[in-house]
Amino acid sequence: MTSTTLHGTPVVPGIGYGPAVRPAPRPTVSAIAAEVPEGGRDGERERFRGAVAAVASGLEERAARASGQAAEVLTTTAVMANDPSLAAAVEKAIGSGTPAVQAVVAATEQFTTMFAAAGGLMAERVTDLEDIRDRVVAELLGLPEPGVPAPEVPSVLLADDLAPADAALLDPQLVVALATRLGGPTSHTAIIARQLGIPSVVAVSGIEEIPAGTLVLVDGETGTVVAEPDEAEAQQQVSAAGDRAREAATWRGTGHTSDGHEVELLANVADGAAAREAANGVAQGIGLFRTELCFLSASAEPSVEQQTAIYRGVMEAFPDSKIVVRTLDAGSDKPIVYAGLPDEANPALGIRGLRIALDDPGILDRQLDAIAAAAQSRDSVWVMAPMVATLAEAEFFAERVRSRGMVPGIMIEVPAAALLAESLLAVVDFVSIGTNDLTQYTMAADRLSPSLAALSDPWQPAVLQLVGITAQAGERAGKPVGVCGEAAADPTLAAVLVGLGVTSLSAAAAALPAVGARLSGVSLAACQEAARAALATTDPGAAREAARAVLDAVEQ
Ligand code: PEP
Ligand code: MG
Repeated sequence: MTSTTLHGTPVVPGIGYGPAVRPAPRPTVSAIAAEVPEGGRDGERERFRGAVAAVASGLEERAARASGQAAEVLTTTAVMANDPSLAAAVEKAIGSGTPAVQAVVAATEQFTTMFAAAGGLMAERVTDLEDIRDRVVAELLGLPEPGVPAPEVPSVLLADDLAPADAALLDPQLVVALATRLGGPTSHTAIIARQLGIPSVVAVSGIEEIPAGTLVLVDGETGTVVAEPDEAEAQQQVSAAGDRAREAATWRGTGHTSDGHEVELLANVADGAAAREAANGVAQGIGLFRTELCFLSASAEPSVEQQTAIYRGVMEAFPDSKIVVRTLDAGSDKPIVYAGLPDEANPALGIRGLRIALDDPGILDRQLDAIAAAAQSRDSVWVMAPMVATLAEAEFFAERVRSRGMVPGIMIEVPAAALLAESLLAVVDFVSIGTNDLTQYTMAADRLSPSLAALSDPWQPAVLQLVGITAQAGERAGKPVGVCGEAAADPTLAAVLVGLGVTSLSAAAAALPAVGARLSGVSLAACQEAARAALATTDPGAAREAARAVLDAVEQ
């Protein structure tokens, strides 16, 4: 049999090989159904309540068996299943004679339409709600629970997309790789697969053509999915990838290339607990403290004292190391109630990040006061602003930070800022490239859209060019240029970023050993050659392959 190679967006590195399995089909429901007679409506309502209770308790049981983020996702899904407004909509429809199954489908649609229109994080809830709908409907119809089967032998899971409740329960011993037709690098599926360490590729078109049982090789680093590969070659790739993963997991030290060029490895954190965990690993400091994540559920602005205590909790984890605090990145997919965000048609292009402070700097000033107070006993603290697009914005921010004795910087997340990096670096002391947003704005592709995953790829050569322009500006100014987006967590891309001139890499602490291991095996010259090779291409797949070819050839 001839082999077929499909391409997608790699999200979790590693290689998996095995027979393809697919999730059990979702129940289909006819829109037309006979009206429930008056006398049967109370019973129908009870049937619905029983089905919801069974689904929610099933999810809670799974949550109790899972841990970490997986447990959180399952608990959240169980809470959503019990949502009173959903139940009220279903029971209202049952009250007017709609059978429970059709009532559940119609009520869910009301909510998913609303969520999809709201966009951002709300839109991400659509898959979760549809999953709950299917579970409740299957329960009502007496069908087996839809979702992922527990395979008997180690298998490769192929799916359109996975509901979080399914993704959270994947057993990495039995599901050795995952490939989905939809789903972006920041989808729940990708986040959970990363936590479980299951090699994964998303946005693979053509995957629906691969029949269950076909032997499939998934490469979570190159983004390829090969149906019916050469058996011996596949086994050899699996074992080499296993060796690399074991070696990477045990890497320790400070970031450097094989010829001693230093590259700081820093952690992205959102609270004191994550900072302490990072301090136990290889992180040499904090490269991105996303302060807004501390306040997602705050209904009022925390006082300066309250904020000081939170920031101090993070700083104490790294008393003598570099810490970069980012001021509130409110707006778009991170709504903060007290930020007074306007209701906009297109919030990703609206008032977000530093823009909320330009007319009314009160929130920013109080936050800077709190950061300065938390940093009182430290030698220094670096503070940067998100979503800067102009020189005037950089000046506005730098002046406020300097006047409090701190080191000012800005994020490069907008193409305009990358193109103006030289001028911006004249007024700030450092920049940090947020490749997640820089990719979103360069490619004009919503970073949360599952259908645009191929565009939302930091390997896009246009994004790499902007990183290169910024890094060169940093070299000329003699000022640090970091990367703190997801790109820094990809070991091969990290080497390319270093080759482009980036001086520090900040990522989730768990990703840092693999990045450190990759860098320590290649010279700066090889990183530069890999960067040149990637820049010479015109699509992300080719960029990845070109860089890998250079680095794999020299790795020691
Ligand atoms: C980024 O945009 O790359 C970034 C680091 O910021 P966030 O992901 O929080 O928007
Ligand atoms: Mg950003």
